[in-house]
Amino acid sequence: MKIAVYPGSFDPITLGHLDIIKRASLMFDKLVVLVSVNTAKSPLFSADERVKMIVDATSGIDNIVVESYEGLLIDYCMKNNIHIIMRGLRAITDFEYELQIAQSNKAFSKDKVDTVFLTTSLEYSYLSSSTVKEFASFNADISKCVTPYVAKRVYEKYGYTIKTKDGGKEDEQQN
Ligand code: ADP
Repeated sequence: MKIAVYPGSFDPITLGHLDIIKRASLMFDKLVVLVSVNTAKSPLFSADERVKMIVDATSGIDNIVVESYEGLLIDYCMKNNIHIIMRGLRAITDFEYELQIAQSNKAFSKDKVDTVFLTTSLEYSYLSSSTVKEFASFNADISKCVTPYVAKRVYEKYGYTIKTKDGGKEDEQQN
């Protein structure tokens, strides 16, 4: 069985992440989407909230498992007998960082864990969780960046409510 893990902060999951998940799910028998709990970062959402949003966004895909993990990614891979890490690349700026992490994971796992990359689909190349949060914090429309459920959760964090059925922005500030 070919299994890969797609790790990330997913704070929150965007349509860019979802695009990578959908495409990767076609390449493997099972794809674990792993919310990395990084104590050095202060995320907007708890690990459980992030898992819940990913579960909702991926509900139509059968071979996806969503988990969270605090610790070294290669330890997670070894414990679960996973040898492939999936990552997404948006721009050349992602590349240097991703290359270093991929090579470190390969070296520290004694060549047992390799990383494969999918390049972003053009329409999502500008998308990041930070951009979504930044724009949502000013009550801008994020309906083209995340699923309706995620949009609702993000606006809630900033004290905005959504009134439209599809989760698009048509709201007023609560406080
Ligand atoms: P991390 O903090 O581990 O970088 P992120 O949630 O920001 O976590 O990203 C997880 C992975 O998804 C990374 O490989 C990142 O490059 C990729 N990614 C994020 N946004 C996009 C996007 N719009 N298109 C393609 N890949 C993306």
